[in-house]
Amino acid sequence: MMIIGIDDTDSQTEGGCTTYLAAVLMEKLQEYGDFVDYPLLIRLNPNIKYKTRGNGAIALRIEIEVGRLEKAKEMVLDEVAGQSRLSDENTNPGVVFLNGTSGDLKYDLKSFSRRAIQDILKIEDAKHLINAHKIDSYEFKNGRGLIGALAAAGIALNGTPDHTFELIAYRYLSRASTGTPRDIDTATVREADLRTYPRTWDTVDIANKKVVCVPHGNDPVLFGIRGEMDGVLDAFNRIKSEPVERAVVFRTNQGTDMHLIRSTVDQVKDGCSYILKGLVCDQPRTIHGGHVIFRITDETGETIDCAAFEPTKNFRDIVRRLIAGDSVIVCGSASNGTIKLEKIKIEHLAAGYEFVNPVCACGRRMKSAGAGQGYRCKRCGNRSSVPDRVSIERDLDTGWYEVPPCARRHIAKPLVRCRGAVHPSR
Ligand code: ATP
Repeated sequence: MMIIGIDDTDSQTEGGCTTYLAAVLMEKLQEYGDFVDYPLLIRLNPNIKYKTRGNGAIALRIEIEVGRLEKAKEMVLDEVAGQSRLSDENTNPGVVFLNGTSGDLKYDLKSFSRRAIQDILKIEDAKHLINAHKIDSYEFKNGRGLIGALAAAGIALNGTPDHTFELIAYRYLSRASTGTPRDIDTATVREADLRTYPRTWDTVDIANKKVVCVPHGNDPVLFGIRGEMDGVLDAFNRIKSEPVERAVVFRTNQGTDMHLIRSTVDQVKDGCSYILKGLVCDQPRTIHGGHVIFRITDETGETIDCAAFEPTKNFRDIVRRLIAGDSVIVCGSASNGTIKLEKIKIEHLAAGYEFVNPVCACGRRMKSAGAGQGYRCKRCGNRSSVPDRVSIERDLDTGWYEVPPCARRHIAKPLVRCRGAVHPSR
């Protein structure tokens, strides 16, 4: 069996798409052998600054007769060279071919793939592994794509503990290259979502009235449906749109939370994504731009800011209801020393209270006596300098909450895939 890993062929400005390249290779490689599985679309660390969009890399697994290997490789490399947007300085393709599957290679690649999903690697890390195992590899320009190519090939070799599917439908080049707006009957998309959820997810964002399965860039993707296999096929058959040039189902690590590292606050470093358990330190505050921020502390005594940024829309309403003392688990990436929230579990609610004007000995509630002057009973003239603290019921349930589909990261596990006390957002 040959595994082909490819990454970093597309560009934000010049277009292209590594998954489209994979889709074309699926067709062209058919005459060379038999595919062992669906093509793999692997999402790597979502915090990498070099990414074009979702930091995806692809891997294909195919049985090819030894005599046809070289010709197949040549065809793959021609296609990569032809489709890559090499004029963009940020496009640095990498391709790897794995034929052997020695135990050491498997082990080293497993750890490399995990680091590519959870940490930040250097091009040298990929080249070191390639040299150590004499991996057949090809790079264009600075070869940064070797990182993603190796990581995806590593997952193809070792498998993933969890996976979902995405069906991606592509546009005809004549429309994609001229920037013609995507012609999709959004009513059929909404209907497809209603009929197939929860076997599909993140097709539309009902609360925020957005279709999220249709991209807006100059890439050839018409739409992408995420979910379980039967769900994505069902939804695809219900959507009416401009002609689909081709559609391919990818097995992916999307919706699996593979990027999250269980940790404590003192270990957090920018660029990685975490699961942290702690206590809310202060009342969440809304800052300029509509972002909601609060601090948590954990057993290490360290504190860290957590943020529900403005694009997380209605998720912020949940976060605003937290108070000091609430026990939470937060999930998200660290950036500038702040956790950008993807999900939160409210484990235990602290007792809620509010301050009200004190009650006078006569039984009537006092009135404010003026700014900074405490309270005064209008009838008896009694005074008090402190308000009464009274218990109130908390307007929040325990359990997991998540950002809405319009703010979801590809790799984040949607709550619709989780069990227990969950409040899926849709
Ligand atoms: P698309 O999703 O449209 O295919 P993209 O968002 O995947 O685009 P790429 O064009 O693949 O972005 O660019 C990402 C680059 O970052 C690649 O060169 C890849 O090898 C590299 N990369 C991926 N993960 C890591 C990591 N953990 N550390 C360092 N570099 C990484």
